[in-house]
Amino acid sequence: MSRFLEEPDVAGYAALFGTTVVKATVDAVLADVRARTARDGVPVPPFEDLLARARRRLARVELDDLTSVLNGTGILLHTNLGRAPLAPRALEAMATIAGGYSNLEFDIETGTRGSRYGRVATLLRATTGAEDGLVVNNCAAAVLLVLDTFGKQREVVVSRNQLIEIGGGFRLPDVLARSGATLVEVGATNKVYLADFERALTANTALVLRSHTSNYRIEGFTADVAAADLATLARRVGVLSVEDLGGGALVGLEAYGLPHERTVREAVADGIDLVAFSGDKLLGGPQCGIVVGRAAAIARLRANPLLRALRVDKATLAALAATLRLYLDPRDVETIPFYEMLAWSRGDLLVRAIDVVAAIDLPGVRHVETIAYAGGGSAPLATLPSYGLAFRRDGVSPNELAARLRVRPPRLVGRVEGDDVLVDLRTIPAARDADVADAVRTVLT
Ligand SMILES: *Cc1c(COP(=O)(O)O)cnc(C)c1O
Repeated sequence: MSRFLEEPDVAGYAALFGTTVVKATVDAVLADVRARTARDGVPVPPFEDLLARARRRLARVELDDLTSVLNGTGILLHTNLGRAPLAPRALEAMATIAGGYSNLEFDIETGTRGSRYGRVATLLRATTGAEDGLVVNNCAAAVLLVLDTFGKQREVVVSRNQLIEIGGGFRLPDVLARSGATLVEVGATNKVYLADFERALTANTALVLRSHTSNYRIEGFTADVAAADLATLARRVGVLSVEDLGGGALVGLEAYGLPHERTVREAVADGIDLVAFSGDKLLGGPQCGIVVGRAAAIARLRANPLLRALRVDKATLAALAATLRLYLDPRDVETIPFYEMLAWSRGDLLVRAIDVVAAIDLPGVRHVETIAYAGGGSAPLATLPSYGLAFRRDGVSPNELAARLRVRPPRLVGRVEGDDVLVDLRTIPAARDADVADAVRTVLT
């Protein structure tokens, strides 16, 4: 063991994640060897061999840790890479509130218990136009809470063209079943009319549910019901209208050359009673799920004991409030990394790409035009023209080259296209361009 620990790189790992972890990892390697020697009479391999095995395991331990990566995929909201990066203001708020005590559920004036959700509800009203709002763990939890509160042993009417399954096992019919609601499907896959909804309503209907078709589009011979018409129908017959908006944009994306994405404010203005959306998609905040809408309906959600199990922590609330505050002044919106990345012009990205290629200074590395994606299952077909680098290395497959870029710091995640590895610069902070150049240079030489 002491010989292992004397190796500089092993000692480096010990500094990184503690001697205990390193010793346990080396022990595991030695235990394997002992077991095989005892069982099969295999001679003990030389030290160098054991060291190589220990290094491989230690590298695995490092990669299994939650660690930061550079996103060169060009996908702005990448669920596997943690979705929305937070704005500096949100990070500060998180550090301040999470690093100490706060008035989370405390009224400073009276010195008595206060509301965990009151402050953020005020900001949700200001940014969405809704009467009230509530925050839970994620949008899936928000939809579950709504269905559990209103849909139990009752009917929920959904159009067949919106019976979604999104990533991570969120399938609307299954969530409905789990909450004890009965799904009533209306319309056809490609066409649904208001009359379909009207016919489906019974005395046992709890709500009509609209869902954002986040990751697919039905094209061609189609017909759909406008949200405002559905909300009016629901109000007339006395059932609730609910919309699972998914993405949850608070500002129009068309300013950034993207197709229009229905905003939360529009859904509220259409008269939808409850609108659910994610905090870490187009909002650019922390992971959470938000429901806004009519005060009476939100009050019912608040009274559901399930809310306690879906509760968010102080750091999330601090980051969310700080992010929402950035929407109060249009000049602040682009301090949210998602909007900062959207705002990069093609010309400026081209200049960055040319500079990075020059810094790498190796034959075969070139700047290329790329396509970036909003991603996040929110604006599926929304693409943005972008720039990045393309490179290859003789004798090394592009997949192997991409893997080498990923495993060593700064752990650059690119994508493979044909024989090239591609790194899109739109999803990389400009301040990290030099790190990109270093990383690429290292794997190519
Ligand atoms: C992303 C999405 C969800 C799930 O949101 P989470 O915050 O990941 O739970 C639900 N519905 C729609 C339409 C979505 O796009």
